[in-house]
Amino acid sequence: MIPYGKQLLDAADLAAVQQVLNSNWLTQGPKVPEFEQAILLKCQAQFAIAVNSATSALHIACLALEVGPGDSVWTSPNSFVASANCALYCGATVDFVDIELETGNLSIQALSEKLILAKQTNSLPKVLIPVHFAGQPCDMPAIAALAKEYGFKVIEDASHAIGASYQNKPVGNCFYSDICVFSFHPVKIITCGEGGIATTNNAKLARKMQMLRSHGITSEAEELTEPSHGVWYYQQQMLGFNYRMTDLQAALGLSQLSKLTHFVAERHLLAKWYDDAFADNKGISPLQQQPYAYSSYHLYVVRLLNLNKTQHKDCVQFLRQQGIVGHLHYIPIYLQPYYQQLGFKAGYCPQAELYYQQALTIPLFPGLTAKEQHSVVDALQHFLENTQ
Ligand SMILES: *Cc1c(COP(=O)(O)O)cnc(C)c1O
Repeated sequence: MIPYGKQLLDAADLAAVQQVLNSNWLTQGPKVPEFEQAILLKCQAQFAIAVNSATSALHIACLALEVGPGDSVWTSPNSFVASANCALYCGATVDFVDIELETGNLSIQALSEKLILAKQTNSLPKVLIPVHFAGQPCDMPAIAALAKEYGFKVIEDASHAIGASYQNKPVGNCFYSDICVFSFHPVKIITCGEGGIATTNNAKLARKMQMLRSHGITSEAEELTEPSHGVWYYQQQMLGFNYRMTDLQAALGLSQLSKLTHFVAERHLLAKWYDDAFADNKGISPLQQQPYAYSSYHLYVVRLLNLNKTQHKDCVQFLRQQGIVGHLHYIPIYLQPYYQQLGFKAGYCPQAELYYQQALTIPLFPGLTAKEQHSVVDALQHFLENTQ
């Protein structure tokens, strides 16, 4: 089977992990701060807080921005459930902004219109979480302008987008946001096994996230409410969690990070080959790439314009029979049973639902061979030619 995505590990990655296994520090040693520094260098931000997943990073990012009961967080329905769940963890409510069909990213127009209405009804969001879908950055200057006008904070869910850039500035530099979050799950661009990180240029937010990832505990002399009782002394000052990344994960992340540019370049070559192969097919529409954006190409998504719901399902089935794992990114979050129980109804974001009916993710990962790519294109075109 050809998967839709997978990690690429080499001998250097294995050696990096083994070195940690042979050391005194499996966790809370030197590798985590080293990984954080390397991410900062790559992203040109001031602070990085490594944690055990992007989900944890989203959670502590919301808490650092003081999201709580009575607050509203807005995100894109075309994302993984974690982009919305983080608001619910904090006791806030979540709402969804419809997307643009061509990119799968949240629509600036839909956002503007929703903000105008929310202002009239006194229900503006505290935080917006735009998602850089498939690795292509959202229109961040437009989002930042709206954030300023309406007074909300911005957390970029860049789980798909490490290695992406925006007008030649790396995603993660937080130029247009308060906090940016990356994921290092094996299916993403680079992996730690499991892992995530939050970047920010705000020292206060950074310090809060550092405490929240480790029980809300500090032993920094200047932060204690009374003089230290000794080197063993610490204080819990807020309710935190154990969201720490291990040194094993950080060592793997460091080794993977050294190959990031190369991985993304290879993804671009593979994507370009698909683009060319589909150029003459009116029924296949790859995601549109914006001129300002350099995608990390976490996913290669096409929209199958002429298929109905049943044919779309049959297509995924047919590809599986040919040994190709097609995938669907994403079922609109609010159509999940849990979110329907919260009161969301089908029809809420019509573009996201139409997108979901048409979209298909086909295999894209470093190491995908020309032969495999040919077989994907042939299978897809064969199905389309023999349908209708
Ligand atoms: C993968 C993903 C997450 C969650 O990442 P984890 O590291 O698995 O917690 C969040 N948001 C999006 C958009 C993702 O794709």
